[in-house]
Amino acid sequence: MIPRPFEYHAPVNLPDALSLLQRYGEEAKLLAGGHSLLPMMKLRFAAPGHLIDLGKIGELKGIKQVGSEIHIGAMTTENELIWSPLLADKLPLLVEGAGLISDPQVRYKGTIGGDIALGDPGNDHPALMLALDASFALRSAKGERILPADGFFVGLYSTRMEPGEVLTRIQIPIPAAGTGWCYAKLKRKTGDFAAAAAAVLLRAKAGRVEFARLALTNVGQTPLKVPAAEQYLQGRPLDDAAIKEAVRLAMSICKPSEDQRGDVAYKTAMAGEMTQRALRTALSRSQ
Ligand code: FAD
Repeated sequence: MIPRPFEYHAPVNLPDALSLLQRYGEEAKLLAGGHSLLPMMKLRFAAPGHLIDLGKIGELKGIKQVGSEIHIGAMTTENELIWSPLLADKLPLLVEGAGLISDPQVRYKGTIGGDIALGDPGNDHPALMLALDASFALRSAKGERILPADGFFVGLYSTRMEPGEVLTRIQIPIPAAGTGWCYAKLKRKTGDFAAAAAAVLLRAKAGRVEFARLALTNVGQTPLKVPAAEQYLQGRPLDDAAIKEAVRLAMSICKPSEDQRGDVAYKTAMAGEMTQRALRTALSRSQ
């Protein structure tokens, strides 16, 4: 289908983008990689009168280390994440997750900011952000605020971002040396969203877990952080019994919707299986 007519704007700096957003209000939509928005416009689920393309705004791009954090511009593409030596060294979980998103075409254009801002629980970055303790910088005409990923995703396609705000960068603390990682994702074929996936960061000392993060993709209305499992694992050896209990705790909060990827019982079981695999792999990668 063909989208409804719209006016296209391509500001070259953030202040201009913010004033366009202010001027056109609810009539306006931000355009990043377009891989979610443009299909929705073609189906006429979205019909903005004004499209504000963020693609020419240099300050929204790039990956850099700032003190003990990595800062990633919202317009950084999936491939730029995958190709970054800095991320391979400091945040390999993010590189692994980005590499499992869709297909090369989507990864060339799709951006980390668009993937997060959309609030789709089927997208992979939201759960990765929860596991990584990320926070998000949001700019509007009123100034900047920083929100943690935990609590940012409030419902289906719904986040704590307010009208007039642009997600400008993602801030992620660099995990301590020796932290293991894994993003385990079950998908039916290349290009499909997850039936279920689990993101894990894990560090052990003297055979006991001293740090654990666990978050799930596509088994609820939002990405799901699993604090009960994180706390349960703290201080325990990661043996079969501990993994079994962490899996049980993860499955207990899953509320997936039935669709072509499976029914509720299957998706819940697969979230458990992905959790188990991610925990074991993260342990094997921790030092
Ligand atoms: P756009 O589509 O341009 O925008 C998405 C939404 O976010 C819009 O509402 C837009 O206004 C808003 N927005 C964008 N940038 C900002 C910003 N900086 N500040 C505020 N609001 C903003 N994703 C996955 O994670 N995993 C998958 O397995 C996966 N499979 C896919 C398969 C296919 C065939 C396709 C077409 C897409 C798939 N996607 C998947 C989605 C893809 O990653 C999209 O690129 C992503 O959801 C949106 O990013 P985008 O840059 O294309 O944003």
